[in-house]
Amino acid sequence: MKINADRTRCEGHGMCEALAPNLFRVADDGIVAPIADPIDDNDRDLIQLAVDSCPVEALRLT
Ligand code: SF4
Repeated sequence: MKINADRTRCEGHGMCEALAPNLFRVADDGIVAPIADPIDDNDRDLIQLAVDSCPVEALRLT
């Protein structure tokens, strides 16, 4: 399982980072950079919450 972040879509709202700061980071360019790759199954619910919370639907679990 991986986090797919569409950096062309991300607008740097930071919801993902606020919900899961150990899994997402908004980089200096204002665009998200997933930290964990691949992700731990234990983090799945938290990641799903972050994916669902992104206002521009830039995140996907694959
Ligand atoms: S919540 Fe969405 S728009 Fe905001 S930083 Fe994360 S991926 Fe980007």
